[in-house]
Amino acid sequence: MQAALEISGLKKTYKGGFQALKGIDLQVTQGDFFALLGPNGAGKSTTIGVITSLVNKTEGKVCVFGHDIDSELDKAKSFLGLVPQEFNFNQFEAPMKILVNQAGYYGVDRKVAKQRAEKYLKQLDLWDKHDQPSRNLSGGMKRRLMIARALMHEPKVLILDEPTAGVDIELRRHMWDYLRELNSQGITIILTTHYLEEAEMLCRNIAIIDKGTIVENTDMKTLLSQLHIETFVLDLKPGA
Ligand code: ADP
Ligand code: MG
Repeated sequence: MQAALEISGLKKTYKGGFQALKGIDLQVTQGDFFALLGPNGAGKSTTIGVITSLVNKTEGKVCVFGHDIDSELDKAKSFLGLVPQEFNFNQFEAPMKILVNQAGYYGVDRKVAKQRAEKYLKQLDLWDKHDQPSRNLSGGMKRRLMIARALMHEPKVLILDEPTAGVDIELRRHMWDYLRELNSQGITIILTTHYLEEAEMLCRNIAIIDKGTIVENTDMKTLLSQLHIETFVLDLKPGA
């Protein structure tokens, strides 16, 4: 399988001298559903930030489908869709406008962009809000809008930074189903989470990060067997 993402020797020291990443190696194969699991402050968002070029790395190498972000940044970025941890769109703009503008950055034809926006807004149950200022959307709707926005240029890899943090269980389940559906269509998914249960439910492979170091990198089944645990998912337990 082709590597969608290859990270080697990645280090990040923030201004002020704090070392958030201490030399990370990661590989994600095309088609994978991959979890980067770790507690608050572990370095998950920093890793995502470097991959998507929002954060400058200090040392190391990142390649997306073989394209090094140092030498072929635009090409590498064209494969990636990012759902950031924090809402970062203009809250006075309506979802439709936000999505069409986003497609514009990637050179998508305006007519195609409108059709795509409608498709994703409908899939994500936002169509009846497409014309309203996005500040009127609930937290869950804003999160879904960010997913739609990340899909507008039809990336091969969707990266989500704690997409279900602070989202109620009902919506969380819908998001899980939607992400599974995208993955089954061939989109590689990388998500960060601090819920082990979520990683188990969704992901094939997992890396655990703590204090800027990858402390485990394996497939979900192996991880559970190493821990001598059958499952973390409550309602999958027999008899529950
Ligand atoms: P996570 O996403 O796993 O919660 P982060 O990658 O956001 O962790 O942060 C990792 C560490 O780097 C934390 O200790 C955080 O305080 C620190 N950090 C994050 N951003 C900055 C920054 N801009 N300047 C200095 N330190 C930062
Ligand atoms: Mg984070």
